[in-house]
Amino acid sequence: MDGDRHQAGAQVTPVRLTSGAKIAFFSMEVALDDALPTFAGGLGVLAGDFLRSAADLALPVVGVTLVYRHGYFIQHLDTSGRQSESPVSWSPQDVLEPLPERVSLEMSGRVVNVRAWRRLIRGQSGAEVPLYLLDTDLAENAAGDRTVTDQLYAGGQEHRLHQEVVLGLGGLAMLGALGYEPVTFHMNEGHCSLLTLGLMEALLAPGSAPSEKDIDAVRKQCVFTTHTPVPAGHDRFPEGLVRSVLGPRRSELLSQVGTLTSGSLNMTDLGMRLSDFTNGVSLRHGEVSRTTFPEVGVRSITNGVHADSWAGAALQRLFDRDLPGWRAQNDLLRYATGIDLADLEEAHRECKTELIDTVQRSTGLALEPDALTIGLARRATPYKRTALLFSNLERLRALVETYGPLQVVCSGKAPPGDEGGKALIAEIVAAGERLRGVVKVVFLEGYSLSLAKVLCAGSDVWLNTPAKPNEASGTSGMKAALNGVPSLSILDGWWIEGCIEGITGWAIGDHTTDGDDASALYDKLEQVVAPLFYRDRHAFLVIMRNAIALNGSFFNTERMVREYSLSAYGLTANDHTCSPVGA
Ligand SMILES: *Cc1c(COP(=O)(O)O)cnc(C)c1O
Repeated sequence: MDGDRHQAGAQVTPVRLTSGAKIAFFSMEVALDDALPTFAGGLGVLAGDFLRSAADLALPVVGVTLVYRHGYFIQHLDTSGRQSESPVSWSPQDVLEPLPERVSLEMSGRVVNVRAWRRLIRGQSGAEVPLYLLDTDLAENAAGDRTVTDQLYAGGQEHRLHQEVVLGLGGLAMLGALGYEPVTFHMNEGHCSLLTLGLMEALLAPGSAPSEKDIDAVRKQCVFTTHTPVPAGHDRFPEGLVRSVLGPRRSELLSQVGTLTSGSLNMTDLGMRLSDFTNGVSLRHGEVSRTTFPEVGVRSITNGVHADSWAGAALQRLFDRDLPGWRAQNDLLRYATGIDLADLEEAHRECKTELIDTVQRSTGLALEPDALTIGLARRATPYKRTALLFSNLERLRALVETYGPLQVVCSGKAPPGDEGGKALIAEIVAAGERLRGVVKVVFLEGYSLSLAKVLCAGSDVWLNTPAKPNEASGTSGMKAALNGVPSLSILDGWWIEGCIEGITGWAIGDHTTDGDDASALYDKLEQVVAPLFYRDRHAFLVIMRNAIALNGSFFNTERMVREYSLSAYGLTANDHTCSPVGA
């Protein structure tokens, strides 16, 4: 990158040529902005925030993903909350830079050509991290192969395996064609595990079997992050399909490294087996994963969010004034303890107004600015139990009668094939109907990055009610905390670390029992949250401020990427070129 692209006023930062990138970060989805619809949810958001912080820290990182010309999907909800889907239409050439390089790979007995698009992610210091998005829609490919990179998490198992061949093996080949020689390959979840095969092939003489030493050499280059304890989140392909897609030589190689046993290929197993460093995404998730994969020694690096991107405009102004330098050095947010409560209240009011305006524009419903507003947005899938708040409408009615008005703003897409998830959305919409005149409930169509930001910053309380221990981390509550919005959540994932009861927010239930989560939720709302919100404004504001100081300062991707680079990549402090404070 050129020196003249540096931000005016920033101190001189050593600039790295992107072709010198040492770490290649592979992810099935990456979320950077809504105009680049190559993501479905949390995994993509984490990947995007990871790359942004890597750019802020001027780390030698390069990202690899697929381009998805039909995106994930556009969500449509009918009046009873039934979801239908349509493809996203967007043009890569409008938002990405085309590259001339082409690589080809063998897949299902055919040669498939792959091109790449590029997006440069510019960090605080002016350094840039490139993201490459692979694409098979080339005239020279067979019609069936042109659509391999058409849609994220759509199609059958063969389609998915083709995508993963393009991501893992195609991505590796493309990096080579672009002149990169990474020393570390970071697999963000198992979809990219096939890259390990490519690394192995590069070491072996044609036809020879890998020795322990070869396996070790590949492991030394690889880092694997697992993102979910839910079995369906781990790709598994039947052996017959693997053999027909990868061919006899590569299938043999899989057997030789000890995968493709028991009739299937488990992509998580492959990735972990060939990585020297494997981690879960919160302390609890690390623990749970060590039980699931006892032979691996899974560590944990707790997720975060990119603070600069997720703080609402009003909070950004407040932090700029009171905590200068916070964008590049997120731990300065701990000094939010000194922010004037009236200023925080005013900033939050502005975010809440934006939420109210958004709801008004998209549904016509007028929310009340002074009513306790619960935000509740996440992928609609059964383990997230998004409808738990609506399991006892009588208790919600009683709450409103005792303390004052309550309103709930919900959003979230159900994966297209997930009937249980779709039923959850319909259940929330039906509950809203039954609560008409008592509690205002809105379900906003088309959960997106911009909507997430408005919701996380503008709600008064952020609610999360997953079934333990399935929430590996969760990141929307971190976005809320950064904006001074405390969470009311089940003690799972990040919240086990982030919750200090009555200080940064509130737990639903406790660590030890798996009791009735619904009644624990109502108890906490009735006995603690609503009374505080309506009767002790000062105490509520102190909790809001603590959420920023104690959680915003830690659950960010600046801290997370530093952890990866020191413990997973083995970079030294010299490889970090931290931006100057206040630049
Ligand atoms: C942050 C975010 C998520 C992930 O939220 P969780 O709390 O981890 O479920 C999903 N989708 C979008 C659009 C987001 O911004």
